[in-house]
Amino acid sequence: MNKDYDIIIVGTGAAGLYCALNLPTHLRVLMITKKEAKASDSFLAQGGICVLRGEKDYDAFYEDTMKAGHYVNNPKAVDLMIRSSNAIIHDLLNHDIQFNQDENGNFSYTKEGAHSRPRIMHHQDITGKEITSGLLDAVRSLPNVDLYENTTMLDIVETDNVCGGIVLEHMNTGKQQIVTSSYVVLSTGGLGGLYDNTTNFQHITGDALGIAIAHNVTMQNMDYVQIHPTSLYSETNGRRFLISESVRGEGAYLYDKNLNRFTDELMPRDKLTAVILNQMEKDGTPHVWEDMRHMGKERIMSHFPNIYDHCLKQGINVLKDLIPVVPAQHYFMGGIAVNLAGQTSMRGLYACGETACNGVHGKNRLASNSLLEALVFSKRVAEDIMFSTDHKGGCSTEHVKLEQYKDKEALLEHYKKLVLAEMERTTPS
Ligand SMILES: Cc1cc2nc3c(=O)[nH]c(=O)nc-3n(C[C@H](O)[C@H](O)[C@H](O)COP(=O)(O)OP(=O)(O)OC[C@H]3O[C@@H](n4cnc5c(N)ncnc54)[C@H](O)[C@@H]3O)c2cc1C
Repeated sequence: MNKDYDIIIVGTGAAGLYCALNLPTHLRVLMITKKEAKASDSFLAQGGICVLRGEKDYDAFYEDTMKAGHYVNNPKAVDLMIRSSNAIIHDLLNHDIQFNQDENGNFSYTKEGAHSRPRIMHHQDITGKEITSGLLDAVRSLPNVDLYENTTMLDIVETDNVCGGIVLEHMNTGKQQIVTSSYVVLSTGGLGGLYDNTTNFQHITGDALGIAIAHNVTMQNMDYVQIHPTSLYSETNGRRFLISESVRGEGAYLYDKNLNRFTDELMPRDKLTAVILNQMEKDGTPHVWEDMRHMGKERIMSHFPNIYDHCLKQGINVLKDLIPVVPAQHYFMGGIAVNLAGQTSMRGLYACGETACNGVHGKNRLASNSLLEALVFSKRVAEDIMFSTDHKGGCSTEHVKLEQYKDKEALLEHYKKLVLAEMERTTPS
């Protein structure tokens, strides 16, 4: 690995990859990721990605996003995201990323909770894998990007609120290194790994959030955590498998212990989660039931083959059996405060994707808006770097001593504590 780059991007999810793809190829880019490149939450996305279905859909799309977010969303960010969605999908299609179509060759749109009409494009129930592997292939073919897997950011390098690079560790050798750059882009995803019960990868632990707090970077909405209403119930530890909201969007029911429906299955996520938890408490059960049997074999196999396969491996045949489901941590609406160009309060430091907060989701994210948000705003970061030098960083590294990073586990634990303390501090009592 070189010691100096123009730009360092931390994270190889949708946000990091799309940022790299939108940078001019004369800039030297370093991308790193903690595990293998495909181990990102972006790969796990099932339901799909929202798109504006023509001008007639604008008001409804805007209202659905604001309503789900309890109207505390940043209106400018919502407008920008919706207005950019067609260009983003167009670009994905140019990267040969495929979306389901009907028998006439028109795109097929699905619906999830709190959407007033179908506007979610999908690739079966593995949309994230389709999009992110397409982007990863495209990035791997770029001559200006060096991508290192199993490489963890331990810190940013900073002097007087100007960022000039990062400290990283090569996980296979334990070697630590300082790498300098004029810009650092944090796209490290959410913080599900801090929870026992999460749909996220366990290694997505909000490291960049802890690092930002340690360097007094401005944070926003740190108490806005989304719990998904329906993950597959399991008695073993580890990541929770998601039963996508589009299953309910396509007509699945929820039942209590007596197999009676007890709620509107398409309520916004936060409200439905509260109702399910309440029902579980009333029934004294560790889960409720989800029923997709009436949807029929053909529909289930064509739209949800991944969910069918996964459940079958767990001994549940969704064509015949009910699925035990329970709420689990899923998404983080808060994060490192950024403006619409992804600039943080520290010069030279950008953030995008789930780790950033521009307020687009308000208090509760509308389903399938996060892949879109990650793509729209990571492209904005690339464009800001390309067209403006206002936010250029770069600083001396003389003050950085690698000895202080020797005990990596203690350091990561310290970041974790900082994040949890900030979340607690900002949670209204
Ligand atoms: C099961 C599941 C289903 C979902 N379904 C949908 C859906 O249908 N539609 C939708 O819009 N959204 C969905 N989401 C949410 C969406 O996938 C994510 O919010 C979004 O993809 C986040 O992208 P990202 O690039 O910000 O982060 P991620 O894709 O999570 O990538 C984070 C990257 O940062 C790296 N990283 C983290 N810390 C470090 C470190 N210290 N050093 C180096 N690298 C680091 C990770 O290894 C990873 O490469 C789903 C999420 C999950 C978990």
